[in-house]
Amino acid sequence: MKNAQCKKCLNKFHQKDIYTIQQFQYRKLPSYEWSVKYFEKLGITEWDSFCEACVTDYSKESEKKWNESKI
Ligand SMILES: [Zn+2]
Repeated sequence: MKNAQCKKCLNKFHQKDIYTIQQFQYRKLPSYEWSVKYFEKLGITEWDSFCEACVTDYSKESEKKWNESKI
């Protein structure tokens, strides 16, 4: 049963396929601390559910912003 919903695209999907921004703990840069603050500004917390596609989008988007912020 598809009982989970992505906060971004609002698609329904299986509970086991939930992604959260917590997975960004495992990337080296930007730091997780930076990521949490970045998503906080977008109104996203560590407990919001997303599908794989949207979390990938956020990953790229945040990395881009982080690179820009270094200039
Ligand atoms: Zn989504």
